[in-house]
Amino acid sequence: MALLQIAEPGESAAPHQHKLAVGIDLGTTNSLVATVRSGLAVVLSDELGRTLLPSVVRYLPDGGTQVGFDAQEQQSVDPRNTVVSAKRLMGRGLADIAHRESMPYDFVGAEDVQGAQGMVRLRTAGGVKTPVEVSADVLRALRARAEAALGGPLVGAVITVPAYFDDAQRQATKDAARLAGLSVLRLLNEPTAAAIAYGLDNAAEGVYAVYDLGGGTFDISILNLSKGIFEVLATGGDSALGGDDFDQRIFCWMLEAAKLKPLSAEDARLLLTRAREAKEYLTFHGVAPITARLNSGELVDLKLTTEIFTEITQTLVAKTIQPVKKALRDAGLQVADVKGVVMVGGATRMPQVQRAVGEFFKQDPLNNLDPDKVVALGAATQANLLAGNRAAGDDWLLLDVIPLSLGLETMGGLVEKIIPRNSTIPAARAQEFTTFRDGQTAMAVHVVQGERELVTDCRSLARFELRGIPPMVAGAARIRVTFQVDADGLLAVAAREQTSGVEANVTVKPSYGLSDDEIAGMLKDSMAHTKDDAMRRALKEAQVEAQRLIEAVQSALKSDGELLSAEELGRVEGAIAKLQTTALGENRRHITLAMDDLEAETKDFAARRMDKSIRRALAGRKVDELKEFGSHGENK
Ligand code: ADP
Ligand code: MG
Repeated sequence: MALLQIAEPGESAAPHQHKLAVGIDLGTTNSLVATVRSGLAVVLSDELGRTLLPSVVRYLPDGGTQVGFDAQEQQSVDPRNTVVSAKRLMGRGLADIAHRESMPYDFVGAEDVQGAQGMVRLRTAGGVKTPVEVSADVLRALRARAEAALGGPLVGAVITVPAYFDDAQRQATKDAARLAGLSVLRLLNEPTAAAIAYGLDNAAEGVYAVYDLGGGTFDISILNLSKGIFEVLATGGDSALGGDDFDQRIFCWMLEAAKLKPLSAEDARLLLTRAREAKEYLTFHGVAPITARLNSGELVDLKLTTEIFTEITQTLVAKTIQPVKKALRDAGLQVADVKGVVMVGGATRMPQVQRAVGEFFKQDPLNNLDPDKVVALGAATQANLLAGNRAAGDDWLLLDVIPLSLGLETMGGLVEKIIPRNSTIPAARAQEFTTFRDGQTAMAVHVVQGERELVTDCRSLARFELRGIPPMVAGAARIRVTFQVDADGLLAVAAREQTSGVEANVTVKPSYGLSDDEIAGMLKDSMAHTKDDAMRRALKEAQVEAQRLIEAVQSALKSDGELLSAEELGRVEGAIAKLQTTALGENRRHITLAMDDLEAETKDFAARRMDKSIRRALAGRKVDELKEFGSHGENK
């Protein structure tokens, strides 16, 4: 069925030119942008020298926006129009959002949303906004920062996402980037980015744990490094546990220690800010002075020691260890299997956190890089490679490969592999298919994954239909099917009929939902069945060929049956009937023989049909018309 195969190799960058590419850590609390300069990954700062950009956007009635610190300052004054933690809402429907009531936003009800499939939307002074738009505003600010610092437009960005982000959340992140005018070189898992920043992709193979305690979330990822490829073995965490909870504990301690009466919202916000400052101060000092003048006129003047801070936050630290244990269990590993532990997130600066992690893993965690920059630094390194800025000898490109072949179902339930397993991504391949029946106007495209020859032994990924194929004789239509796997492992399949241009497509994430064990199992199966499969495939192919021949002859009989005598017709019909029964059986040789018989019986018939159609084509034409027809080979 396959007519020809067309490979589309990726284009390589011009060697001499340095492409401006950045890595972006789009965080729940803070975002950063980094790039590689003279071979070194560095975080880019704003005009005031600040590297973090709070992931906060405020929408103003005049349509203007404030992003970052300016927006953060107004959060307590204008909570409704100041969006924080938009990352928690990315790719989510209204129904998916837990604790919606505790958020200060005016959520647009699902019933008011048209066509957006219930995506979360917030009504702000500046209009209705989706989390994608909010994230796009954060990204736009980072892009402007980068372009100002680097002095030119960016060729693209690597943007990091939590390892547990599903397809919808990843797609939403890409949409946000597109909206911000950024070309996404790829999405990269945050723990993988952190591991790259530590150069672990160059290190010995083995299992690494990435412990990420941010502002409001805790993530643990267990990665396996093998041949330069990171695989996420397990993820876990707590989406409602982070540095903010430590602030809260200090705040409660302050209320008690200073014997404060119930506070106004503003005073509470002020003390929370003081609490956070004290927490961060204690990372480098033994005692933190806390002073604040409340609106009520009262003066708060306290000293918080490391001992007290450690004591009041002990349960929070312990709470992070539970998900770590579970993730290890999920990966089927012991503490002793872990080769290294990477610390990520501003909150891992706290000495008590460092200590607890070190004790649990029985080794000192890697912490010599800035924990709130490490994800952005790793992303920048990756962006630099993907943009083609590779130095000589620097050939350790982090590879991601397609674990199982991707293909299509063809007639007879057979699999035609389009992208073979172990192809590095991104990958794109196209192949042409044709119609099976005369006048066939629709084609079912069934995308499958696996190594086996029969569809029933592979995993079904998606089905779609190509409709509106102009009616033609069987085999005349040319349908080009393109498979494209982008750097994030998203597969897009498009089918296009070449003469009419009708097109249909579908996007799927092939690896989604398949564990490594399942992949290994599928590979083992295919190995065990190679010989069997080849025979079953050959049989199926013969059955399909037989069916095709029968249909072709039957269609010819229908239009030109009068060219045969009754006796000839009888013999042809007999041969058809015989082939039909043989094709139901399992003997490939018999099927081939029956096909030969039918072809022999219809040889004369085919010749007569040819004569007839030539006579029909020539009838009523003038000589000069025929000449033109002949010289151009085309009938105009
Ligand atoms: P996210 O990944 O959620 O965007 P970050 O990694 O930027 O978050 O971490 C933000 C958290 O780190 C905040 O709670 C902040 O107070 C905390 N943090 C930053 N610096 C320190 C420090 N020196 N000591 C303790 N906590 C810190
Ligand atoms: Mg983070």
